[in-house]
Amino acid sequence: MSHSLWQSVLGEIELSVSHATYMTWFKNTELINDAPANFTVAVPNIFAQRQFEVKFDSQVKAVLEKNGVKPDAITYIVKTAAKRPVASRETTHHLPADRLVAPAKKSIPSQSQPVSGLNPRYSFDNFIVGSSNDLAYSACQAVAQHPGTKYNPLFLYGGVGLGKTHLIQAVGNEITKKQPDTQVLYISSETFVNDFLESIRFKKKGFATKYRNVDVLIVDDMQFIAGKEKTQEEFFHTFNALHQANKQIIISSDKPPRNIPTLTERLRSRFEWGMSIDIQMPDFETRCAILEAKAAQSGVELERETVEYLANNIKTNIRELEGALNQLLAYSEMRGIPADISTAEGLIGNVRRSRPQHLTPKQIIDKTARHFQLSPAEICSAKRDKHIVTPRQIAMYLLRSELHLSFPKIASELGRKDHTTAIHSVEKIEKAIKLDFLIREQVAELRDKLYV
Ligand code: ADP
Ligand code: MG
Repeated sequence: MSHSLWQSVLGEIELSVSHATYMTWFKNTELINDAPANFTVAVPNIFAQRQFEVKFDSQVKAVLEKNGVKPDAITYIVKTAAKRPVASRETTHHLPADRLVAPAKKSIPSQSQPVSGLNPRYSFDNFIVGSSNDLAYSACQAVAQHPGTKYNPLFLYGGVGLGKTHLIQAVGNEITKKQPDTQVLYISSETFVNDFLESIRFKKKGFATKYRNVDVLIVDDMQFIAGKEKTQEEFFHTFNALHQANKQIIISSDKPPRNIPTLTERLRSRFEWGMSIDIQMPDFETRCAILEAKAAQSGVELERETVEYLANNIKTNIRELEGALNQLLAYSEMRGIPADISTAEGLIGNVRRSRPQHLTPKQIIDKTARHFQLSPAEICSAKRDKHIVTPRQIAMYLLRSELHLSFPKIASELGRKDHTTAIHSVEKIEKAIKLDFLIREQVAELRDKLYV
């Protein structure tokens, strides 16, 4: 149906996103229904469905509108295609040589590195959005569209390897692409400290000019400025000068401003003027989507079970996830063996023998119950007391995020017939995690307990 409409939409999208993005997400999609009230697009799997709902929806709508079609909303449904060849390399793509030599290393900055400090490898395009980072992603997008107006400063915080540097660099790259005249400066707070110390020690000029004449200042890993009072004072002045001139300031840190020890009060209050958002550890679905996208960038298509195996076993952060994937690809390339689940088991099983390989639904229910000092029977009962209902919803959420169970299966694990309760519960906790710090902490703590 409307084959040509969708073909022209795809054609246009192919021009505006990277090849890997197109191949991973758009290639195997299909228009199922073009009635404006029931506009439906089929996508190959649940990961793609999520990416379309969260990330590509507005882009697709914009291209449709250009083609004279304005649906009320788009529904993305999963339609599994015939099985594609496994772990095959596309002929036009080769594994980049640097992956074989130094899998997890970043490229060494060369002299041609632009003075902006930006690395073009970080873009919005190759950033995978999931519930753990969609707020941060949206805020960064908003800032990239209208720097200096909306969220100023924008403060992103979260643990290592969760995508902070990637996102804040993506903002810089996007602005530079759209408005090449904009002066963007990306630095780590260590660079700021060193520059400042040097400027005093050697009475160097130009420090204030360098920092106060930019349009967008991006400071990574702000926690390193903690305890350095003189530098903080200097940063305070830089901040004020830029902010007064409506210049955009973006900051990342491993903790929210209020939790950075020895951050001076006035700097803390400045940081709290704008918007602070945290990036969480990505859930199972997002981890799978990231692996699929990264494998596709290397021209490799992994079997679903291999992707799920990696995503199930590496839950620390995305840097490690990426490292494990690179290790798998490099190893299979060197040995000439398939990058499949048994190779992955061989590689990862070695380093992580202590971790349980398979988490069962029962373990999730038992551990959730124990965490909230309830019995498994209570969690699975029909009781509606609040102190039981929320843990029950969290158990359902974890069954979904960690084991990826279907809703009917989740319902039956908790002794229920109706799976709409499961859908409702999972959605409720997903929302609560975004809005409620306490729930977020509880779920994170519990999730950690599942794997010990
Ligand atoms: P942080 O600055 O929070 O320590 P990084 O931004 O350096 O983390 O991310 C670590 C690695 O993981 C980088 O290679 C980055 O490109 C990748 N990464 C992080 N989040 C995502 C994501 N959502 N999608 C794709 N790649 C990601
Ligand atoms: Mg970083």
